[in-house]
Amino acid sequence: MMQLTIDNKTYTNAPEETILDTLLREEVDVSFACKKGTCQSCMMRSTGSAPPTSAQKGLKDTQKKQGYFLACLCHPEQDMQIRLPEQSELYSQGTVVENSMLNRNTLLLKLECQDIQEYFAGQFVNLQREDGLTRSYSIANTPQESGILEFHIRALADGQFSSWLHNEIKIGDTIAVSEPQGHCFYIPERADEELVLIGTGTGLAPLVGILHDALENGHTGEITLFHGSSVLEDLYRVNEMRALAEKHTNFSYFPCISGATVLEGFTPGRADVVAIDSRSEWKNVRLFLCGHPDMVSNMKMQGFLNGVSMDDIYTDAFEIAVK
Ligand SMILES: Cc1cc2nc3c(=O)[nH]c(=O)nc-3n(C[C@H](O)[C@H](O)[C@H](O)COP(=O)(O)OP(=O)(O)OC[C@H]3O[C@@H](n4cnc5c(N)ncnc54)[C@H](O)[C@@H]3O)c2cc1C
Repeated sequence: MMQLTIDNKTYTNAPEETILDTLLREEVDVSFACKKGTCQSCMMRSTGSAPPTSAQKGLKDTQKKQGYFLACLCHPEQDMQIRLPEQSELYSQGTVVENSMLNRNTLLLKLECQDIQEYFAGQFVNLQREDGLTRSYSIANTPQESGILEFHIRALADGQFSSWLHNEIKIGDTIAVSEPQGHCFYIPERADEELVLIGTGTGLAPLVGILHDALENGHTGEITLFHGSSVLEDLYRVNEMRALAEKHTNFSYFPCISGATVLEGFTPGRADVVAIDSRSEWKNVRLFLCGHPDMVSNMKMQGFLNGVSMDDIYTDAFEIAVK
C-alpha cells in the first residue's frame, strides 16, 4: 500500500483505489466531477516522484513536465508527495455579461474572460463555484467574439451546479474558468470533406461553435447537423439554424424529435437514428458527436462500423458527475 502525503498529512492508498478514491474516502476537500479523466477538474501535482504517465492522459506537455496528474486516473506506483493546486494556478475569473433563456430549461450564459482568448470552438472549460464545486461546459462560440465565452446550460432536476447557474447567478457575478480543453473541434483542413454533426440537448453548444468555425473557414464540403430532443420545447436555435441553412447551400439542418408529437418541419426520430438512416455511404466523413453519453458511444460505434475512420470521429460525451 502506498502512502500519500498532502500538507504534512499522510493517507494510505488501498489497493485498487485511485488517489481520488483515497482522498474522498478520507474526506479531503478536492475538486472532481466526471471521474473518468475527461473533465480534468481533479488535476493535482506530484512534488516528489514523477506520477505514472497513465495518470497524465490529455494533459499539456508543460503540465506533465511539472508533475501535474489526474487523481481519478492515478494508481500510485510508489509513495507520493502531493500538492493540491491553488484555484489561481488553474483558473481565471469570468464575469457574467449575459444570462437569458434559450428555451424552457436551457440557459444562455455569456462570460467575459479576457485571459481566455485562444481556444477552438467546441472545446470545454471547467467552471468552478467559490465552494469548489466544479462542472464542465462546452464553449458555443468561436474566438472571434474577443474575450467572451458562450455556454448553453441545461437545468437538471436537483442538479447542484446547473440549478445554481439558472437560479442564482446574475450579471456582474464572477465565476472561475479553467483553461479550454478537449479535442472535439474543427480543424481547417480537407475543406471538401463532408462533416456530419449529431447532438442531443445542449450537445448543440459545441456543434454550433464547430459549425460556425467550419463556415468561417470556408469549408466547402457538405455539412449536416442533426439536433435531437424528445419534445419540441427542448430544441432551441431552430430559426437561427434554418436561416444558416438558407444562407449556406452546403449546410443542411435536421431538428429531430423522438417523442410522439412531431410538427411539420421537424424530423421524427432520434437524431442518431435519423442520421444513420439518412445515408448509405459514410466513407470520407468527419463525424462530431456531442451530448448524451449513450448517444455518443452508440453513434461512435455505428460510425466506425459504417466505415468512418476513428481518427475522424470527434466526441464530447456530457458525462454527469459521479456521486
Ligand atoms: C466534457 C463535458 C462537457 C459538458 N458540456 C455541457 C454543456 O455544454 N451544457 C450542459 O448543460 N452540460 C454539459 N455537461 C454536463 C455538466 O458538466 C454537468 O454534469 C451538468 O450540468 C449537471 O451538473 P449539476 O451539478 O447541475 O448536476 P449534479 O448535481 O451533478 O446532478 C446530476 C444529476 O444527478 C441527479 N442526482 C443528484 N444527486 C443524486 C443522487 N444522490 N443520486 C442519484 N441522482 C442524483 C440530479 O438530479 C441530476 O439530474 C458537460 C459535461 C462534460 C463532461
